[in-house]
Amino acid sequence: MATIRFKAIEEVLNRKPVCVELPSAKTSDYFGENVFDKFKMQEYLSREAYENVIESINQGTRINRKIANQVAIGMKAWAVGRGATHYTHWFHPLNGSTAEKHDAFFEPTEGGGVIENFQGDMLVQQEPDASSFPSGGLRNTFEARGYTAWDPSSPAFVYGNTLCIPTIFVAYTGEALDYKTPLIKSLNFIDRAAVDVCQLFDKDVEKVNVTLGWEQEYFLVDNALYNARPDLYLTGRTLIGHASAKDQQLSDHYFGSLPDRVKNYMVDFEIEAYKLGIPIKTRHNEVAPNQFECAPIFEEANLAVDHNQILMTLMDKVARKHNFRVLFHEKPFKNINGSGKHNNWSMMTNTGKNLLSPGKTPRNNMQFLTFLVNTIKAVHDNSEILRASIAVAGNEHRLGAHEAPPAIISVFIGSQLTDMLNQLEERVTNKKMTPDEKTELKLDIGKIPEILLDNTDRNRTSPFAFTGNRFEFRAVGASANVASPMIALNTAVATQLKQFRMDVDALVEKDIKKDEAIFQVLKKYIIDSKKVRFEGNGYSEDWVKEAEKRGLSNIADIPEALKAFVSKQTRELFGKAHVLTDRELDARYEIRLEIYTKKVQIEARVLGDLVSNHIIPTLIKYQNILITNVKGLKDLYPNEIYEQMAEPHLKTISEISERMAIVKTAVEEMIEERKKANKIEDVREKATSYSKNVVPYLEQIRYHVDKLELIVDDEIWPFPKYREMLFTR
Ligand code: ADP
Ligand code: MG
Repeated sequence: MATIRFKAIEEVLNRKPVCVELPSAKTSDYFGENVFDKFKMQEYLSREAYENVIESINQGTRINRKIANQVAIGMKAWAVGRGATHYTHWFHPLNGSTAEKHDAFFEPTEGGGVIENFQGDMLVQQEPDASSFPSGGLRNTFEARGYTAWDPSSPAFVYGNTLCIPTIFVAYTGEALDYKTPLIKSLNFIDRAAVDVCQLFDKDVEKVNVTLGWEQEYFLVDNALYNARPDLYLTGRTLIGHASAKDQQLSDHYFGSLPDRVKNYMVDFEIEAYKLGIPIKTRHNEVAPNQFECAPIFEEANLAVDHNQILMTLMDKVARKHNFRVLFHEKPFKNINGSGKHNNWSMMTNTGKNLLSPGKTPRNNMQFLTFLVNTIKAVHDNSEILRASIAVAGNEHRLGAHEAPPAIISVFIGSQLTDMLNQLEERVTNKKMTPDEKTELKLDIGKIPEILLDNTDRNRTSPFAFTGNRFEFRAVGASANVASPMIALNTAVATQLKQFRMDVDALVEKDIKKDEAIFQVLKKYIIDSKKVRFEGNGYSEDWVKEAEKRGLSNIADIPEALKAFVSKQTRELFGKAHVLTDRELDARYEIRLEIYTKKVQIEARVLGDLVSNHIIPTLIKYQNILITNVKGLKDLYPNEIYEQMAEPHLKTISEISERMAIVKTAVEEMIEERKKANKIEDVREKATSYSKNVVPYLEQIRYHVDKLELIVDDEIWPFPKYREMLFTR
């Protein structure tokens, strides 16, 4: 086995950077060339078809069959021109990845020839036999009826030789089997709710879009080393491995210069991303060695979610070309930082106003404060479902591990805004304010600097931080489909905005002037949501204690966190919003529990195999070397010298024996616990049993194996070590 490791290392040392074919044109010349965007639609569609699609995008209206046929013909002509031979409906099933099933365009003709064919009904709807995707009981396999339906609001694109058509994926009974369906519903809901609130300030606002800019963190590992680590390629993370003597202590990787191999990789996937219209803007090193980040310019949220999913696929494919593997796991390596996906979130009106950006006038800033305070209140009221929306197995190792925000959901807004909210709280009274008081308050609100961006302190320890003109939901896992947290956040904020409008209207009806009504309601919300605001260090122990005092929840355990999916409050929230029904929530809850259970199950199996079939045999080998050595010493030397010489080796021999016995027993016990857990029918109990009874063994076993790695001869250690995997040289 060690030979595999050394062969891999040799391969890595001989690697040359893979060259990238740089396009001769400027980025803007080929940006979006593989996307059937508005410009191409104008070129390839009749005016009627084009206008229909645009209306459908803006208003969510249905496209009729005749128009769909016209669109299909135009889309096909364009796609074939770009080399597409196949088409696929592309969707986001609930296993967190994306799915596609390719069909060829060509069809036999009566005369025995073939033609390229693509009809409207193939564009609009399909029934992939996708019965193996998780459905949480919404669909029995024998009636495998799930269908995909075109989502015109996200443009089709050509990747490789395939025309990909973004679609929703629903059961025959109408229930959502994917992320996109509830995402779109939540976006429509927040649009309506936010427009109603904007109307209090600006009659020109007719549409509000959610904007999302995600930052994607990831690790790169050389392909050869990756393949020599079964834990990495089977579970996405290292289940064993002692820390490297040097890793991130010196912070010398952060924002450092990029090795050529890595840079070429980035350039390569960025070119591919640009062709697909994904506006990647930044790239840099992250804190941990071999950890990086990329981020696009923000986009409308539905599109941004699709782009993130496409990019992850793309990054994976391009990585292989460069002899890398990209890791999106939240915690691939122990003791160094894990990877997240920060979701920068805001709302933008059709008039071009960012609703979380302060403006030039008091009126503008009242609107800004309204959206700010309502968002804080929404997070305060719905922290558990927000927490649940980001609960995946990998994130369990990251959240609260003193490198990422804890599992406590809190909001950071910076000192200036804290001051402003405090003033509102103090100065707005429940009795009528005098005109002078009101004017004065408005003037002060008008003084909020237009550019808060450079003034807001950057608190990187907060899971939900205001960063000048947006909120940044930072606790999202790197591997997640970002639709999940977006669905929860949009729905929570929309519900809150609706409530706000009702509360203001109720006061206005009681003859309170509109501005004063707004002040009063905001004041109430500021007080009610105060406990969720936290400006200090979110990684500190003190905060954990303080949060407990404040009554904020801190659920580190995944099955426990997931319960929020089916709480009374969540059902009411999503039900009233028409985003997810009870049955859909039950299904989502069940699927997430199942995925969690399976992930832990796989990890436990892989670790059992690594220990029993690789580590223990290696230990015995090394122990035998030591035993032979000790015996030799005994032959050569008189007893008292021998004893002195043999002592350290005897110690090592017995340390190996002791630790080997511990891990062997632990593996056996872990298998027993797994067996017990597997017998449990109830999905929730099963997941809990895995989390409470199996997970602790993973850590215990690893602890001893990692100690053993330090004493066993490097020559025979079977798996690439951290120091070998973490540095691209
Ligand atoms: P940092 O690492 O300092 O947080 P980055 O530049 O890496 O900053 O990422 C910031 C992200 O926030 C980018 O994706 C950017 O497009 C996004 N962003 C900026 N303004 C908005 C906005 N109004 N709505 C949503 N996202 C935004
Ligand atoms: Mg950021």
